[in-house]
Amino acid sequence: MTKNKESSHLGWNFDNSYARLPEFFYSKQSPAPVASPQLVLLNHSLAVQLGLNIEELTGEKGAEIFAGNQLPEGAFPLAQAYAGHQYGHFTMLGDGRAVLLGEQVTPQGERFDIQLKGSGRTPYSRGGDGRAVLGPMLREYIISEAMSALGIPTTRSLAVVTTGENVLRTSFLPGAILTRVARSHLRVGTFQYAAQWGSPEDLQTLADYTIRRHYPEVEADDNKYLALLKEVIKKQAELIAKWQLVGFVHGVMNTDNMTISGETIDYGPCAFMDTYDPKTVFSSIDRYGRYAYKNQPPIAQWNLARFAETLLPLISNDKEEAIYLAEEALADFMDLYHSKWLTGMRRKLGTFNEEKEDEALINQLLELMSKNKADYTNTFRALTLDEGDKTDLFKEEEFRQWHQAWQARLNRQSETKALSQKLMKESNPAIIPRNHRVEEALEAAEKQGDYTPLERLNAVLNKPYGYSPEQEEYALPPEARGCPYITFCGT
Ligand code: AMP
Ligand code: MG
Repeated sequence: MTKNKESSHLGWNFDNSYARLPEFFYSKQSPAPVASPQLVLLNHSLAVQLGLNIEELTGEKGAEIFAGNQLPEGAFPLAQAYAGHQYGHFTMLGDGRAVLLGEQVTPQGERFDIQLKGSGRTPYSRGGDGRAVLGPMLREYIISEAMSALGIPTTRSLAVVTTGENVLRTSFLPGAILTRVARSHLRVGTFQYAAQWGSPEDLQTLADYTIRRHYPEVEADDNKYLALLKEVIKKQAELIAKWQLVGFVHGVMNTDNMTISGETIDYGPCAFMDTYDPKTVFSSIDRYGRYAYKNQPPIAQWNLARFAETLLPLISNDKEEAIYLAEEALADFMDLYHSKWLTGMRRKLGTFNEEKEDEALINQLLELMSKNKADYTNTFRALTLDEGDKTDLFKEEEFRQWHQAWQARLNRQSETKALSQKLMKESNPAIIPRNHRVEEALEAAEKQGDYTPLERLNAVLNKPYGYSPEQEEYALPPEARGCPYITFCGT
């Protein structure tokens, strides 16, 4: 590939494999220039991983590029087409306020989509303005980076710029653009779009592309499309187990918000639970709790069934057989999920071996947490630090009994208590992005232009298993509030 001097100087090394798909899959679309871009956040470690030159991208140059005012050499900006089930209803969607600049191939040879979110209208914008506002883009930056540090597959956040333009929501708010980085933006909804409106060749082209990009190991399989389905089911089962283990509520698990790569995507109404309650919902529009914490595994399975449906013609020419094979694969989801969850929970309780009664022990703890409205993260934190007696839960006789049973369980394994505690420290985050701390950081940034609280928060969230003294204040749960914490979509 030929590169001009400036581009190699900045570190861009674009390839545009998605743009080589049939035009059915996208619309060429340049980002709409903005009035007065300012770079407010640049993710240095991610930039380095991507092979980008931080010095050159800090300041004005970075602002111009991450605002979409200047295209990096080699970019081929486009808006991706996709469909999706939103709250169970199928509809045409597509990037209504995002453009894919291209795929950055890193010095290690990895490939990442570089996408600008909030970059103006596209053919898929419907009634929307194509724009994003500062608060939610900063929030996505904080939470996606916290998820990554927690070891959870996720899209990443490379930069946030303010646009110098106001965007009308319930009032005028400062506009912003987030640079999102992903292994790809292929979604269940991309396959739904191809299955619904594409030719059989389009669908196969998409499936082959996906296999080459994400699951090359299935290429040689006798039925590679069935193998693709099974791999995606496995990846999603692992992902959802990780969400459950840290108390993450995604909030809008529509099929367009489920990636084929198994990365968490779309940080709109998501939030972490404070008090343990399986029915937890944060999203203002999720009135019936479709996407509540406890529903995340069955909803993931439902979404995967929609994915499976799109693959049926590729799995077998015999429709009956295709359905049988797909259903068999889907039926494995809950077992895969459950086994990942159980392994994770065993680690959270410091156990190395397996006992049949472990699951009952775990469920008893969860029930006690629920009954006593205990903080999810801090209960495990207290158990890790052996500070159970500092918690309200410990005052409960039932919990003390549980604690004895747990101690007896630990005594039955050969590993030392010290090893057990080490495992617990690696498995139980000392801190999560607490909603009240996130809000506080956003308020300082939005209202005073003061990014210090946000940068401090990002720094501590970067080492969630650190158990360092400066994290302690971030571990505190919120003061009891009069109303529940509420989140919003698409802002
Ligand atoms: P989301 O809720 O973020 O998954 O978005 C659902 C759909 O709405 C996607 O097709 C988005 O691209 C589109 N969308 C969200 N916000 C806007 C906006 N401000 N302008 C245009 N399209 C939007
Ligand atoms: Mg979305």
